[in-house]
Amino acid sequence: MPELADNESAGNVAADIVIVGGGPVGSALALALRDCGLRIVLLEARAAGNGDARPLALSYGSRLILERLGVWPALAATATPIRNIHVSQRGGFGRVALAAAEAGFPELGYVVDHGRVAQALTQAVAATSVQCQTGARVMATHGGDPARVEYEWADERRELTASLVAIADGGTSGAENTKTIDYQQCAVTARVVSERPHNNIAYERFTTHGPLALLPDGDAWALVWTTTPDHAQQLCAMVPENFLMELRAAFGGRTGGFTAVTGRAAYPLRRRRAQPSADHIVLIGNAAQTLHPVAGQGFNLGLRDAWELGEQIVASNPDTLGSRAWLDAYQKHRRVDRSAGLGFTHALVELFSNDLLPLRLARGTGLALLGCMPPLKNFLVRRMTFGVRG
Ligand SMILES: Cc1cc2nc3c(=O)[nH]c(=O)nc-3n(C[C@H](O)[C@H](O)[C@H](O)COP(=O)(O)OP(=O)(O)OC[C@H]3O[C@@H](n4cnc5c(N)ncnc54)[C@H](O)[C@@H]3O)c2cc1C
Repeated sequence: MPELADNESAGNVAADIVIVGGGPVGSALALALRDCGLRIVLLEARAAGNGDARPLALSYGSRLILERLGVWPALAATATPIRNIHVSQRGGFGRVALAAAEAGFPELGYVVDHGRVAQALTQAVAATSVQCQTGARVMATHGGDPARVEYEWADERRELTASLVAIADGGTSGAENTKTIDYQQCAVTARVVSERPHNNIAYERFTTHGPLALLPDGDAWALVWTTTPDHAQQLCAMVPENFLMELRAAFGGRTGGFTAVTGRAAYPLRRRRAQPSADHIVLIGNAAQTLHPVAGQGFNLGLRDAWELGEQIVASNPDTLGSRAWLDAYQKHRRVDRSAGLGFTHALVELFSNDLLPLRLARGTGLALLGCMPPLKNFLVRRMTFGVRG
């Protein structure tokens, strides 16, 4: 991987594009630009891989993008296919079953952990001419032509200039135009083993505390259990036997009993949307929008952000990169997909977080009706697979 040489990184270096953040979305953008002939610099705060074991449900559409980026072969061996999805509410009637065969796809999606996706993308970027600087924490970005990026590396303050700065830092920088809703919920993730095999079925179960997802993961399940912050803390601290009993009580008996749990972690949940206000700066992935993990949409949406930004850059005259008109075109192109992703997940959280009887009945009726309408189910599956084109 070409890193910035010492004499370059100490000075004021001009690049065509600086990518801030080498997580899965920033790395995907770097890969999408690998052959475009522009000088790309990627700055990543971490010195080494992230080891984040949160499960990612990748849509079939994301698989197609990862294939085009050349990283799917590195993930395929560890990705567990999802062939069916069951959606239901605990303590209420109504259920929807989605099937890959019915929707006309080979699979509905795949489960891989975040660390593995990030690692596969990072390794692929390392084999390109993109210049990567790890251990480089960006402290500030300034719009303008050129845009400026201030960062710290090995205790030194440095600066880069670029025609375009793509911020893919997961939302850690305080963008100016940001709207945040704190869900007052945490997601507890873990790997659990059950008595019965998963048969490549993913379950999304709405409980009184929040949605609980069990995703097929190798010979076990990846769990994403949304609950209150206090309850999440207790779930992470309790002895495995008690955890497994609580899980069984919350999820029900479809998988038989649960017999083992490893790798519990808790993630606070928020909804966040940010708009860049300066010229020559664009936000992608979680930096642009952070979603509730219900329905597993965040990375899939961020990957489409990166892919479509890459396509626009490749098709553009380099002299126009990052101008107001250029940024407006990108924003316009991504607006509908982003709004649909944010709106859909937020609506699910709102609709299913209230346990009033009339609402429970209405939800049950809605699920039951959806279950009987194959065209509507297929429409939903296609939206979750490919997003919405702007
Ligand atoms: C519990 C949970 C389950 C989820 N499940 C799913 C799912 O099933 N499917 C799905 O599609 N999505 C899912 N998501 C969402 C998904 O994890 C995110 O959308 C995705 O990780 C966003 O990727 P990103 O690259 O934008 O940000 P990140 O993954 O946060 O990466 C950001 C990178 O930027 C670096 N960085 C941060 N600040 C700086 C800085 N100042 N300077 C330089 N580098 C910096 C970080 O070190 C990191 O490497 C889930 C989220 C949670 C919390």
